[in-house]
Amino acid sequence: MNRQTKDEFRAIITSEEETAAFGQALAKLLRAGDVVCLRGDLGAGKTTLTRALVAGMGSPAPVSSPTFTLVHEYRGGSLPIWHVDAYRLTGAQDTVDIGLEEVLLTGEGIVVIEWPERIEASLPDDRLDVSIRDTGGDTREIILTPKGPRWVEFSNQWAEQWQ
Ligand code: ADP
Ligand code: MG
Repeated sequence: MNRQTKDEFRAIITSEEETAAFGQALAKLLRAGDVVCLRGDLGAGKTTLTRALVAGMGSPAPVSSPTFTLVHEYRGGSLPIWHVDAYRLTGAQDTVDIGLEEVLLTGEGIVVIEWPERIEASLPDDRLDVSIRDTGGDTREIILTPKGPRWVEFSNQWAEQWQ
C-alpha cells in the first residue's frame, strides 16, 4: 500500500445523539495541530458537532455559536479547541486580525472552523474536511474528507472507529 488517504468516509446519522457519538469518536483520533473544517448550511449541525468534539476531549465547557465573537477557546479537556466562525470574515487579513494565523502556527490544540469556504486561501493543505448535510428531520449525511499526510493514519483508524 502506498501512503494515500482514503478519499472520503460517508456516514448516515439518524439522530442528534448519534451526531454527538460521532463527534466524540472523532475527538478520540484528533491530535494537537489538527485543523477540522466544518462545511454545511445553516442548521446542518456544525456547532452541534463541535460541542461533541469539545465533550469528547473531556472538557465541561459549554459550546455556543461563535458568530459574534468569531473565535472561542475551550479548555479543560485533553487538548484545547479553538472554535472559529468564519462566516463574517472576508479574507487573509481578517484571519490575521482574529489571531487565527497564530493559533494555526502554534499547533497547540485543535482548530475547528465553521464556514471555512470564507477563508479558503488561508486554510492549511493538511486538514480534515467535514461536510454535513440535513437530509430531512433529524437525519444528517456527514462526509469526512482527509487531506494531506497527517491524515493517513487517521483514515486507517477511523475505519475501525466508525462502521
Ligand atoms: P450549524 O452550526 O451548522 O448552523 P447547529 O449545530 O447550530 O447548526 O444546529 C443544528 C440544529 O439541528 C440544532 O437545532 C439541532 O438540534 C438540530 N439537529 C437535529 N438533528 C440533528 C443531528 N442529527 N445532528 C445535528 N443537529 C441536529
Ligand atoms: Mg454554527
